[in-house]
Amino acid sequence: MRVGIGYDVHRLVEGRPLTIGGVTIPHEKGLDGHSDADVLLHAIADALLGAAALGDIGLHFPDTDAAWKDADSKRLLQIVGERVRAAGYRVSNIDATVALQRPRLRPHIEAMRAVVARTLGLEAGQVSVKATTTERLGFVGSEAGAAAYAVCLLLPDEA
Ligand code: MG
Repeated sequence: MRVGIGYDVHRLVEGRPLTIGGVTIPHEKGLDGHSDADVLLHAIADALLGAAALGDIGLHFPDTDAAWKDADSKRLLQIVGERVRAAGYRVSNIDATVALQRPRLRPHIEAMRAVVARTLGLEAGQVSVKATTTERLGFVGSEAGAAAYAVCLLLPDEA
């Protein structure tokens, strides 16, 4: 078994859609970044790459590469899944937490789990997504940005 950890942060700005876990959520601000800045999918991608010792998302999708400008992070995650499989692993499970002060993510959690599972070819039961505020503390609490944490467990193909 191999465990991986991923962490990501994006700034909240006006004039961008708020897309988290592949779900676009109505809000007056969105996450800023080179791609669609989907903080949850980026953390999950980094956990998968980390577990397989394949580097990180910045190595695979450089933000200097125009191909990934405003990219749909579902596509990035799908490619990461393919590279992890090509390295001889399959996903046992993923667990993730999104830290966002506002809006409340609970109504969107099931949709996010379904997106992650579908993108990686997993069952919904292999994917957990949770959400928390930070009690108004720090950059999340002040609504300057969002953070996401993810862990995953990989199994070798033959197991
Ligand atoms: Mg990111």
